[in-house]
Amino acid sequence: MKETSTSKQNKYTTSIEWLPILAYHKIGTQKELGITWITPSLFEKQIAFLHSEKYQAISPNDLTEAIFGTKPLPKKPVMITFDDGYESFYTHAFPILKRYGFTATIFMLTGYVGKWNFWDARLGWKRFKHLSKEQIIDLSMEGFTFGSHGLNHLFLTIQPHKTIQTELQTSKSILEDILQKPVDCFAYPYGNYNSKITQLVKEANYRTAFALTPSTQITNSEIYHLPRMGIYLWDTLKTFNTKLRQTGEMKFWIECTKNILINRLTYGNLIRFYANSSQLTKV
Ligand SMILES: [Zn+2]
Repeated sequence: MKETSTSKQNKYTTSIEWLPILAYHKIGTQKELGITWITPSLFEKQIAFLHSEKYQAISPNDLTEAIFGTKPLPKKPVMITFDDGYESFYTHAFPILKRYGFTATIFMLTGYVGKWNFWDARLGWKRFKHLSKEQIIDLSMEGFTFGSHGLNHLFLTIQPHKTIQTELQTSKSILEDILQKPVDCFAYPYGNYNSKITQLVKEANYRTAFALTPSTQITNSEIYHLPRMGIYLWDTLKTFNTKLRQTGEMKFWIECTKNILINRLTYGNLIRFYANSSQLTKV
């Protein structure tokens, strides 16, 4: 399969000076619990800002090529990523990104292609639809990259070995069947991973994997837990700019710390909830 050989990867390494990798979830106008959704107008302001600052969107493949020294990154690179693959990406984010000449990477929850988000139903969150097969193909043809986010949005670190393998391998095959091309990037549901999970991600022939913890470090050793900066409902253009590391190191690290704390508070409680429930054995 194209570009999945790790032997080629290990020959070269270049450290990336700085690359903001932004993590979005839902774009919508429907108010809901949580802070990981943002409105289309806020999203447009952020994308217009990236455009005015002359950022250029890159894909996970562009990043690996830069790390392994085969192709340099543009002068001001940014990676825009969306987790879960909601239909609202197609209706709200896609037209905005297209208008400003950006592409993005969508980490698709492949057990829910064209379906409602029953995977988080127990939390009482609102119903949202996921991207359909046709929308995925359309976005891919428009230059958007698809990666896997697993099948069922599970906390992988508390799953049995076989379930983890199925989540990684079957989700990859489903997307490859839809797109008719290799899928080689993965985003950990809830940003939840450990060394065992990263090893299984490698064995499933992914070239990169994305976490939810922000950091400035991007080298060969981070390639299976790439740092991402979450963008939230309360972000202003000022905090957005800080998250791009454009307003000084101190402010940037404060935003990183806030991001880490939010992830711990949100997902730390959830993982305890799931670990104590039947989710543990659900495939
Ligand atoms: Zn997710």
